[in-house]
Amino acid sequence: MSRKQPIYEGKAKVLYEGTEPGTIIQYFKDDATAFNAQKRGTIAGKGVLNNMITEFVMTRLAEIGIPTHFIRRLNMREQLCKKCEIVPIEVVVRNIVAGSMAKRLGLEEGERLPRPIVEFYYKDDALGDPLVSDEHILALGWASPDELEEIVGMTLRVNDYLCGLMRGIGIKLVDFKLEFGRVWEGDFAQLVLADEFSPDNCRLWDAVTNEKMDKDRFRRDLGGVEEAYQEVARRLGVLPESAEIESLNKDATK
Ligand code: C5P
Repeated sequence: MSRKQPIYEGKAKVLYEGTEPGTIIQYFKDDATAFNAQKRGTIAGKGVLNNMITEFVMTRLAEIGIPTHFIRRLNMREQLCKKCEIVPIEVVVRNIVAGSMAKRLGLEEGERLPRPIVEFYYKDDALGDPLVSDEHILALGWASPDELEEIVGMTLRVNDYLCGLMRGIGIKLVDFKLEFGRVWEGDFAQLVLADEFSPDNCRLWDAVTNEKMDKDRFRRDLGGVEEAYQEVARRLGVLPESAEIESLNKDATK
């Protein structure tokens, strides 16, 4: 039997041609990178957990009317998604000061912002995903004014909803990154939430202890990385049986 051919291999995922027209398969790897791939490693079982967590979040968001690329989970590491043309912008929302914002502006990590802040980064690994403004996006044609308005509106709805969802399981949603795509139907494009939502691209702090439960544990060598991802999945009610993860880790050739 021949292995299906990847159409794109990213740092944490591989994309394959889907089984139905207009679809792709997202395969979640255990590989982890940080600081624009200068730091590399693996987090055992991460791919399985991120697949489960992304399925859960995308499904909940679809229920409140956010269009997403997610169709269905196929197995422990793969999900079927609508093929879309990715808008080359990473949209970051911040509720609490952390990470690059703390560093750039000389602020203390942990300060709650008076309102959520939306930032845009141009998706370009070679340039290190630079911070850009809406002016750059519009002038350089990365998104139309209508699309940008829709992206910001959807992002803030996602933030409101997920802040509440996470609070309900004792987690502060500090910040996160979203990506959007266009699904073309003839001459019309529908904007959808794409990519993934997992501890790889958000900051989650325990509401009581402020303990980090996300990729910062890997970035900052804090230890307990696998356990943190598992705890997020457990609180969301999507943690697979440990035996299932272990057997899959042995199969994780990617
Ligand atoms: O590093 P920074 O503080 O700008 O990250 C903000 C948020 O965006 C974090 O939750 C981080 O995990 C996420 N992010 C990401 N992919 C990037 C950059 C940031 O998922 N390339």
